[in-house]
Amino acid sequence: MYVVAEKAIAGLMTPEAAFDAIEAVFASMARRKAYNFPVVREAIGHADALYGFKGGFDGEGLALGLKAGGYWPHNQEHGLINHQSTVFLFDPDTGRVSAAVGGNLLTALRTAAASSVSIKYLAPKGARVLGMIGAGHQSAFQMRAAAKVHPFEKVIGWNPHPEMLGRLSDTAAELGLPFEAVDLDRLGAEADVIISITSSFGPLLMDRHVKGPTHIAAMGTDTKGKQELDPALVARARVFTDEIAQSVSIGECQHAIAQGLITQAAIGELGAVVTGEDPGRGEAEVTIFDGTGVGLQDLAVAAAVVELAKQKGLAGEIEI
Ligand code: NAD
Repeated sequence: MYVVAEKAIAGLMTPEAAFDAIEAVFASMARRKAYNFPVVREAIGHADALYGFKGGFDGEGLALGLKAGGYWPHNQEHGLINHQSTVFLFDPDTGRVSAAVGGNLLTALRTAAASSVSIKYLAPKGARVLGMIGAGHQSAFQMRAAAKVHPFEKVIGWNPHPEMLGRLSDTAAELGLPFEAVDLDRLGAEADVIISITSSFGPLLMDRHVKGPTHIAAMGTDTKGKQELDPALVARARVFTDEIAQSVSIGECQHAIAQGLITQAAIGELGAVVTGEDPGRGEAEVTIFDGTGVGLQDLAVAAAVVELAKQKGLAGEIEI
């Protein structure tokens, strides 16, 4: 089996390669050639940790496997980040394990790639201003990936903890884009594309904030109870997701569904927009991508990075 170390990922994986992998696997999901396995997530009763598996099989990309890992809140004491994960790939012809790949940086890259695929397919024509809600670890990856797929001219941002906004201004500067911190009224009125990536458990962006043609990539809500958007805004928008089953249970749509404001049938798949089966934005003023994060994304970027590592001679090989 091949081993690609966490520390090798930064030198191998690019936002472009992550974009291609995620675009392809979303299309494969829409063609019903790829599916996710039920997610396992357990509080293990040790070190306050949450541990689980996200797996699946892509019959087109021939990626089979799982991401194992979770959240260890006290990892700082060990000099480690709190989110820890590893992707294991298996040969779909034989069942032999084929690769172990560090999953921490890949998770950030695959999440950012998902929103950038949504921006490529759903951003309103002539979009100029990118609005960021959230300024944590993921926000920088999100901004970089968005700037790769669309020629934004300006970034505006808001965060519940304003002291964190430096990350957004630094990242915009790195991309050569002007940055302005704004309130949510201005963010909703001026941004053509909005990315929300927070750990919020209540609505931040309200329906009244959002004016004019807008695409919103709602990326923070990946657990029951989390929420970033006003359900009325979700109900007004044309909504797409990575996986409908997750969107209605752990994604942003869980709230609009629970309140009876939308039905599951109203939610489209981003992959179907990629394949051309779904027209996408159409006449809608507001589109939302409810990015919940699926195991197939992890497998897609891990498979891509193994190929890149093999090409560059950076994949260690061991017998198991
Ligand atoms: P982080 O801890 O580095 O940053 C947290 C962000 O959320 C900051 O902007 C912070 O100000 C804000 N925040 C924290 N507590 C809040 C609260 N109670 N109410 C409102 N906002 C709050 O986290 P990160 O690594 O940037 O991840 C952000 C979110 O994205 C997390 O919730 C994470 O679970 C989620 N995530 C989603 C996916 C996916 O595929 N959809 C993948 C990875 C992470």
